[in-house]
Amino acid sequence: MKAAQLDLERTLLEAGALLEGHFALSSGRHSDRFIQKFRILEDPSLLDSPARAIAEHFRPLRPSVVVSAAVGGILLGYEVARHLGTTAIFTEKVNGVPTLRRGFTLTASDRALVVEDVITTGLSVRETLDVVLSLGARVIGVGAMVIREAATLPVPVYALLEMPLRSYPSHDCPRCAAGEPLTDPGSRRVG
Ligand SMILES: [Zn+2]
Repeated sequence: MKAAQLDLERTLLEAGALLEGHFALSSGRHSDRFIQKFRILEDPSLLDSPARAIAEHFRPLRPSVVVSAAVGGILLGYEVARHLGTTAIFTEKVNGVPTLRRGFTLTASDRALVVEDVITTGLSVRETLDVVLSLGARVIGVGAMVIREAATLPVPVYALLEMPLRSYPSHDCPRCAAGEPLTDPGSRRVG
């Protein structure tokens, strides 16, 4: 196991970012584990180390810009860009469609590093990739703090921590079967 992986897992535990309970994921499936990533993203002193590790991994590929998706990705992407000395831009959804707004631009000469905080299904990353590629820029890779499921992406993925997702369809969830109400991710901590 990589040193960065051990460090990040310990940091997540110490920050109370690893929650145990009965969670409904954005996919609609239920899980007994949840990563409250904002326990890391909210603290610049905790975010510095993972951002630096992602930046150093991709520095040899000479990224010219960091692109992430609102909201959590903005914070990590900005910190990665600070280490790389590039700018950091982000996509946000307009009527459900990921878009670059605020005068953010990409050109065919850009070598974009896409940064995501936690990759769960890969959908958000794929949407960001589509935006970048549609503007003719190249994507040199995807960097993430945590990856939950092996997402099939057309570019190299580097994640600091692999934390496989244990989830169930809501009609076949042991905690639903036990009558346990859903947990608000903001309310319960372990570790
Ligand atoms: Zn359930």
